[in-house]
Amino acid sequence: DDLGTPQQGVIISRFGQHADVESELGEIYRCNLRRSIGSLVCGDKVLWRLGRETQHSITGIIEAVHERDSVLSRPDVYDGVKPIAANISQILIVSSVLPVFNSDIIDRYLVAAEQTGITPVIVLNKTDLLDSISAEEQENIAKQLKIYQDIGYQVLYASSKSRDGISELKMQLAQHTSIFVGQSGVGKSTLVNALMPDLGILTKEVSDNSGLGQHTTTVARLYHFNEGGDLIDSPGIREFGLWHLTPEQVCHGFVEFSEFLGLCKFRDCKHQTDPGCALIAAAENEQINPARLASFQRILASLNDNKLTSRFNN
Ligand code: GDP
Ligand code: ZN
Repeated sequence: DDLGTPQQGVIISRFGQHADVESELGEIYRCNLRRSIGSLVCGDKVLWRLGRETQHSITGIIEAVHERDSVLSRPDVYDGVKPIAANISQILIVSSVLPVFNSDIIDRYLVAAEQTGITPVIVLNKTDLLDSISAEEQENIAKQLKIYQDIGYQVLYASSKSRDGISELKMQLAQHTSIFVGQSGVGKSTLVNALMPDLGILTKEVSDNSGLGQHTTTVARLYHFNEGGDLIDSPGIREFGLWHLTPEQVCHGFVEFSEFLGLCKFRDCKHQTDPGCALIAAAENEQINPARLASFQRILASLNDNKLTSRFNN
Protein backbone atom coordinates (compact mmCIF):
# COMPACT_ATOMS: atom_id res chain seq x y z
CA ASP A 1 0.00 0.00 0.00
CA ASP A 2 0.92 3.66 0.03
CA LEU A 3 1.69 3.87 3.71
CA GLY A 4 5.13 4.65 5.06
CA THR A 5 7.13 2.26 7.19
CA PRO A 6 5.83 1.68 10.72
CA GLN A 7 7.33 3.97 13.34
CA GLN A 8 7.02 4.62 17.04
CA GLY A 9 5.00 7.51 18.40
CA VAL A 10 3.23 8.90 21.44
CA ILE A 11 -0.38 10.03 21.61
CA ILE A 12 -0.32 13.74 22.42
CA SER A 13 -4.06 14.08 22.33
CA ARG A 14 -7.02 11.88 21.49
CA PHE A 15 -10.31 13.27 20.21
CA GLY A 16 -13.23 11.83 18.28
CA GLN A 17 -12.01 9.29 15.76
CA HIS A 18 -8.58 10.89 15.53
CA ALA A 19 -5.44 11.43 17.51
CA ASP A 20 -2.39 13.68 17.34
CA VAL A 21 0.72 11.54 17.35
CA GLU A 22 4.21 12.80 18.06
CA SER A 23 6.93 11.10 16.03
CA GLU A 24 10.32 10.26 17.47
CA LEU A 25 11.59 13.41 15.75
CA GLY A 26 9.11 15.51 17.70
CA GLU A 27 6.76 16.26 14.83
CA ILE A 28 3.03 16.04 15.34
CA TYR A 29 0.75 14.28 12.88
CA ARG A 30 -2.99 14.05 12.99
CA CYS A 31 -3.84 10.40 12.54
CA ASN A 32 -6.70 8.09 11.86
CA LEU A 33 -7.18 4.96 13.91
CA ARG A 34 -7.29 1.40 12.65
CA ARG A 35 -10.70 0.06 13.46
CA SER A 36 -9.19 -2.88 15.35
CA ILE A 37 -7.53 -0.60 17.87
CA GLY A 38 -9.15 -0.77 21.27
CA SER A 39 -9.11 2.17 23.59
CA LEU A 40 -6.50 4.80 22.81
CA VAL A 41 -5.71 7.68 25.14
CA CYS A 42 -3.26 10.49 25.69
CA GLY A 43 0.13 9.08 26.67
CA ASP A 44 -0.31 5.80 24.80
CA LYS A 45 2.74 4.58 22.91
CA VAL A 46 1.82 3.49 19.43
CA LEU A 47 3.04 2.08 16.15
CA TRP A 48 1.88 4.29 13.30
CA ARG A 49 2.55 4.96 9.63
CA LEU A 50 2.59 8.07 7.57
CA GLY A 51 -0.15 8.18 4.96
CA ARG A 52 0.26 9.36 1.41
CA GLU A 53 -0.14 13.05 0.77
CA THR A 54 -3.28 13.46 -1.23
CA GLN A 55 -6.29 15.66 -1.09
CA HIS A 56 -6.92 13.53 1.93
CA SER A 57 -5.84 15.53 4.91
CA ILE A 58 -5.34 12.78 7.46
CA THR A 59 -1.58 12.37 7.57
CA GLY A 60 -1.15 9.05 9.26
CA ILE A 61 -2.72 5.93 10.60
CA ILE A 62 -2.28 4.32 14.00
CA GLU A 63 -1.70 0.61 13.63
CA ALA A 64 -1.17 -0.69 17.14
CA VAL A 65 -0.96 0.36 20.78
CA HIS A 66 1.87 -0.82 23.02
CA GLU A 67 1.08 -2.30 26.39
CA ARG A 68 0.57 0.38 29.05
CA ASP A 69 2.74 0.74 32.13
CA SER A 70 -0.17 2.42 33.89
CA VAL A 71 -3.61 3.78 33.14
CA LEU A 72 -5.72 6.48 34.68
CA SER A 73 -9.43 5.76 34.47
CA ARG A 74 -12.61 7.39 35.55
CA PRO A 75 -15.91 5.72 36.36
CA ASP A 76 -18.19 5.46 33.37
CA VAL A 77 -21.91 4.76 33.32
CA TYR A 78 -21.60 2.41 30.36
CA ASP A 79 -18.26 0.70 30.69
CA GLY A 80 -17.64 0.68 34.42
CA VAL A 81 -14.39 2.53 33.95
CA LYS A 82 -13.09 4.59 31.07
CA PRO A 83 -9.36 5.16 30.49
CA ILE A 84 -8.39 8.84 30.25
CA ALA A 85 -4.59 8.75 30.09
CA ALA A 86 -1.79 6.20 29.94
CA ASN A 87 1.81 5.70 31.01
CA ILE A 88 1.75 8.27 33.78
CA SER A 89 4.52 7.56 36.28
CA GLN A 90 3.81 10.15 38.94
CA ILE A 91 0.76 11.87 40.44
CA LEU A 92 1.55 15.20 42.06
CA ILE A 93 -1.03 15.86 44.74
CA VAL A 94 -1.00 19.61 45.19
CA SER A 95 -2.02 21.09 48.52
CA SER A 96 -1.56 24.62 49.70
CA VAL A 97 -1.05 26.82 52.71
CA LEU A 98 -4.21 28.68 51.64
CA PRO A 99 -6.90 27.47 50.91
CA VAL A 100 -6.23 25.79 54.20
CA PHE A 101 -4.18 22.62 54.17
CA ASN A 102 -6.55 19.66 54.33
CA SER A 103 -5.09 16.22 54.94
CA ASP A 104 -8.45 14.46 54.52
CA ILE A 105 -8.51 15.61 50.91
CA ILE A 106 -4.89 14.54 50.42
CA ASP A 107 -5.77 11.14 51.85
CA ARG A 108 -8.58 10.80 49.31
CA TYR A 109 -6.18 11.58 46.48
CA LEU A 110 -3.69 9.10 47.93
CA VAL A 111 -6.39 6.42 47.93
CA ALA A 112 -7.18 7.16 44.28
CA ALA A 113 -3.47 7.18 43.38
CA GLU A 114 -2.77 3.90 45.17
CA GLN A 115 -5.61 2.38 43.17
CA THR A 116 -3.72 3.09 39.93
CA GLY A 117 -0.35 1.88 41.17
CA ILE A 118 1.17 5.21 40.08
CA THR A 119 3.52 6.83 42.59
CA PRO A 120 1.96 9.80 44.38
CA VAL A 121 4.07 12.77 45.48
CA ILE A 122 2.69 15.42 47.82
CA VAL A 123 3.37 19.06 47.04
CA LEU A 124 2.82 21.83 49.56
CA ASN A 125 2.27 24.87 47.37
CA LYS A 126 2.18 28.62 48.14
CA THR A 127 4.89 28.31 50.79
CA ASP A 128 5.32 32.10 50.55
CA LEU A 129 2.10 32.30 52.58
CA LEU A 130 3.51 30.33 55.54
CA ASP A 131 4.46 33.59 57.25
CA SER A 132 0.88 34.82 57.08
CA ILE A 133 -0.66 31.93 59.04
CA SER A 134 -0.46 31.29 62.79
CA ALA A 135 2.37 29.32 64.37
CA GLU A 136 -0.20 26.74 65.37
CA GLU A 137 -1.37 26.28 61.77
CA GLN A 138 2.24 26.06 60.60
CA GLU A 139 2.90 23.35 63.16
CA ASN A 140 -0.16 21.44 62.06
CA ILE A 141 0.97 21.44 58.42
CA ALA A 142 4.49 20.34 59.40
CA LYS A 143 3.07 17.55 61.55
CA GLN A 144 0.79 16.28 58.78
CA LEU A 145 3.54 16.34 56.18
CA LYS A 146 5.84 14.45 58.55
CA ILE A 147 3.19 11.72 58.79
CA TYR A 148 3.24 11.33 55.00
CA GLN A 149 7.02 11.23 54.93
CA ASP A 150 7.06 8.58 57.66
CA ILE A 151 4.72 6.43 55.57
CA GLY A 152 7.21 6.79 52.71
CA TYR A 153 5.60 9.45 50.52
CA GLN A 154 7.82 12.09 49.04
CA VAL A 155 6.93 15.66 50.01
CA LEU A 156 7.96 18.70 47.98
CA TYR A 157 7.55 22.40 48.69
CA ALA A 158 6.81 25.04 46.08
CA SER A 159 5.77 28.59 45.53
CA SER A 160 5.07 30.03 42.11
CA LYS A 161 5.21 33.46 43.70
CA SER A 162 8.60 33.32 45.44
CA ARG A 163 9.82 30.52 43.13
CA ASP A 164 10.99 28.61 46.19
CA GLY A 165 11.22 24.91 45.42
CA ILE A 166 10.57 25.35 41.71
CA SER A 167 13.96 23.99 40.65
CA GLU A 168 13.53 20.96 42.93
CA LEU A 169 10.11 20.40 41.45
CA LYS A 170 11.54 20.63 37.92
CA MET A 171 14.14 18.02 38.84
CA GLN A 172 11.44 15.72 40.11
CA LEU A 173 9.33 16.26 36.98
CA ALA A 174 12.24 15.66 34.60
CA GLN A 175 12.30 11.94 35.34
CA HIS A 176 8.61 11.33 34.82
CA THR A 177 5.32 11.66 33.02
CA SER A 178 3.28 13.50 35.61
CA ILE A 179 -0.17 14.82 36.32
CA PHE A 180 -1.20 17.51 38.78
CA VAL A 181 -4.27 16.92 40.91
CA GLY A 182 -5.68 18.82 43.86
CA GLN A 183 -8.46 21.00 45.14
CA SER A 184 -9.43 24.04 43.14
CA GLY A 185 -7.46 27.11 44.20
CA VAL A 186 -4.29 25.37 45.41
CA GLY A 187 -2.34 26.89 42.51
CA LYS A 188 -2.11 24.14 39.88
CA SER A 189 -2.59 26.40 36.83
CA THR A 190 -0.14 28.93 38.18
CA LEU A 191 2.41 26.17 38.80
CA VAL A 192 2.01 24.73 35.31
CA ASN A 193 2.55 28.18 33.83
CA ALA A 194 5.58 28.75 36.05
CA LEU A 195 7.05 25.43 34.95
CA MET A 196 6.62 26.06 31.25
CA PRO A 197 7.70 29.66 30.72
CA ASP A 198 7.89 29.49 26.96
CA LEU A 199 5.26 26.81 26.71
CA GLY A 200 7.28 24.60 24.32
CA ILE A 201 4.72 22.36 22.72
CA LEU A 202 1.70 24.37 23.87
CA THR A 203 2.09 26.91 21.11
CA LYS A 204 3.24 24.37 18.53
CA GLU A 205 -0.27 23.14 17.80
CA VAL A 206 -0.76 20.91 14.85
CA SER A 207 -1.60 22.97 11.79
CA ASP A 208 -5.22 22.44 11.02
CA ASN A 209 -5.54 21.82 7.31
CA SER A 210 -7.66 18.78 7.91
CA GLY A 211 -10.98 20.54 8.12
CA LEU A 212 -11.59 18.59 11.29
CA GLY A 213 -11.30 21.66 13.41
CA GLN A 214 -9.19 22.09 16.51
CA HIS A 215 -10.24 19.85 19.31
CA THR A 216 -11.33 21.50 22.50
CA THR A 217 -8.94 22.18 25.34
CA THR A 218 -10.98 19.90 27.57
CA VAL A 219 -9.32 16.73 26.28
CA ALA A 220 -6.17 15.44 27.93
CA ARG A 221 -2.98 16.67 26.28
CA LEU A 222 0.65 15.74 26.70
CA TYR A 223 3.19 18.55 27.11
CA HIS A 224 6.97 18.49 27.36
CA PHE A 225 8.82 20.41 30.03
CA ASN A 226 11.84 22.29 28.78
CA GLU A 227 14.00 20.63 31.44
CA GLY A 228 12.77 17.17 30.49
CA GLY A 229 9.82 15.06 31.53
CA ASP A 230 6.23 15.27 30.40
CA LEU A 231 2.99 16.56 31.78
CA ILE A 232 -0.45 15.23 30.90
CA ASP A 233 -3.08 17.80 31.70
CA SER A 234 -6.74 18.73 31.23
CA PRO A 235 -9.48 19.92 33.54
CA GLY A 236 -10.71 16.32 33.74
CA ILE A 237 -7.26 14.98 34.65
CA ARG A 238 -6.96 17.51 37.48
CA GLU A 239 -10.21 16.17 38.90
CA PHE A 240 -8.82 12.67 39.05
CA GLY A 241 -9.61 11.10 42.42
CA LEU A 242 -12.61 13.21 43.31
CA TRP A 243 -15.19 10.62 42.46
CA HIS A 244 -16.77 7.96 44.59
CA LEU A 245 -14.46 5.53 46.36
CA THR A 246 -15.41 2.07 47.55
CA PRO A 247 -14.59 0.91 51.09
CA GLU A 248 -12.20 -1.66 49.57
CA GLN A 249 -10.33 1.08 47.72
CA VAL A 250 -10.10 3.15 50.89
CA CYS A 251 -8.65 0.20 52.81
CA HIS A 252 -6.13 -0.49 50.04
CA GLY A 253 -5.26 3.20 49.81
CA PHE A 254 -4.04 3.55 53.38
CA VAL A 255 -0.95 1.56 52.55
CA GLU A 256 0.54 1.44 56.04
CA PHE A 257 -2.64 -0.24 57.38
CA SER A 258 -2.25 -3.35 55.22
CA GLU A 259 -0.46 -5.50 57.80
CA PHE A 260 -3.25 -4.92 60.33
CA LEU A 261 -6.34 -5.10 58.13
CA GLY A 262 -6.59 -8.89 58.22
CA LEU A 263 -6.25 -9.02 61.98
CA CYS A 264 -9.55 -7.50 63.11
CA LYS A 265 -11.62 -9.81 65.28
CA PHE A 266 -14.65 -9.62 63.01
CA ARG A 267 -14.44 -10.23 59.31
CA ASP A 268 -16.91 -7.41 58.57
CA CYS A 269 -15.17 -4.96 60.94
CA LYS A 270 -16.00 -1.37 60.00
CA HIS A 271 -12.95 -0.11 61.90
CA GLN A 272 -15.04 2.58 63.60
CA THR A 273 -15.78 1.51 67.18
CA ASP A 274 -15.84 -2.22 66.56
CA PRO A 275 -14.53 -4.46 69.35
CA GLY A 276 -11.30 -6.22 68.47
CA CYS A 277 -10.46 -3.83 65.65
CA ALA A 278 -6.77 -4.32 64.86
CA LEU A 279 -6.47 -0.83 63.37
CA ILE A 280 -7.76 0.85 66.53
CA ALA A 281 -5.34 -1.26 68.57
CA ALA A 282 -2.49 -0.38 66.19
CA ALA A 283 -3.28 3.33 66.56
CA GLU A 284 -3.32 3.01 70.35
CA ASN A 285 0.10 1.37 70.19
CA GLU A 286 1.25 4.06 67.75
CA GLN A 287 2.06 1.45 65.12
CA ILE A 288 -0.09 3.54 62.80
CA ASN A 289 -0.74 7.23 63.16
CA PRO A 290 -4.00 8.02 65.03
CA ALA A 291 -4.62 11.03 62.78
CA ARG A 292 -4.46 8.80 59.72
CA LEU A 293 -6.86 6.34 61.34
CA ALA A 294 -9.26 9.21 62.11
CA SER A 295 -9.06 10.39 58.50
CA PHE A 296 -9.62 6.82 57.30
CA GLN A 297 -12.68 6.52 59.54
CA ARG A 298 -14.07 9.86 58.30
CA ILE A 299 -13.66 8.81 54.67
CA LEU A 300 -15.36 5.46 55.30
CA ALA A 301 -18.19 7.18 57.18
CA SER A 302 -18.65 9.68 54.33
CA LEU A 303 -19.05 6.77 51.89
CA ASN A 304 -21.87 5.43 54.01
CA ASP A 305 -23.48 8.87 54.04
CA ASN A 306 -23.28 8.97 50.25
CA LYS A 307 -24.93 5.58 50.02
CA LEU A 308 -27.73 6.74 52.29
CA THR A 309 -28.41 9.89 50.31
CA SER A 310 -28.31 8.05 46.99
CA ARG A 311 -30.78 5.52 48.38
CA PHE A 312 -33.08 8.36 49.42
CA ASN A 313 -32.75 9.98 46.03
CA ASN A 314 -33.70 6.89 44.08
P1 GDP B 1 -5.88 26.04 40.64
O1 GDP B 1 -7.37 26.15 40.80
O2 GDP B 1 -5.34 24.94 41.49
O3 GDP B 1 -5.44 25.92 39.23
O4 GDP B 1 -5.27 27.38 41.26
P2 GDP B 1 -4.76 28.71 40.50
O5 GDP B 1 -3.45 28.46 39.83
O6 GDP B 1 -5.86 29.24 39.67
O7 GDP B 1 -4.48 29.67 41.73
C1 GDP B 1 -5.47 30.06 42.64
C2 GDP B 1 -5.08 31.39 43.28
O8 GDP B 1 -3.88 31.23 44.05
C3 GDP B 1 -4.79 32.50 42.28
O9 GDP B 1 -5.33 33.69 42.77
C4 GDP B 1 -3.28 32.56 42.23
O10 GDP B 1 -2.79 33.84 41.91
C5 GDP B 1 -2.89 32.17 43.63
N1 GDP B 1 -1.58 31.54 43.71
C6 GDP B 1 -1.10 30.56 42.91
N2 GDP B 1 0.14 30.21 43.28
C7 GDP B 1 0.48 30.98 44.32
C8 GDP B 1 1.65 31.07 45.15
O11 GDP B 1 2.65 30.37 44.98
N3 GDP B 1 1.61 31.97 46.17
C9 GDP B 1 0.52 32.77 46.39
N4 GDP B 1 0.60 33.63 47.41
N5 GDP B 1 -0.58 32.71 45.63
C10 GDP B 1 -0.61 31.83 44.62
ZN1 ZN C 1 -11.11 -3.17 62.22
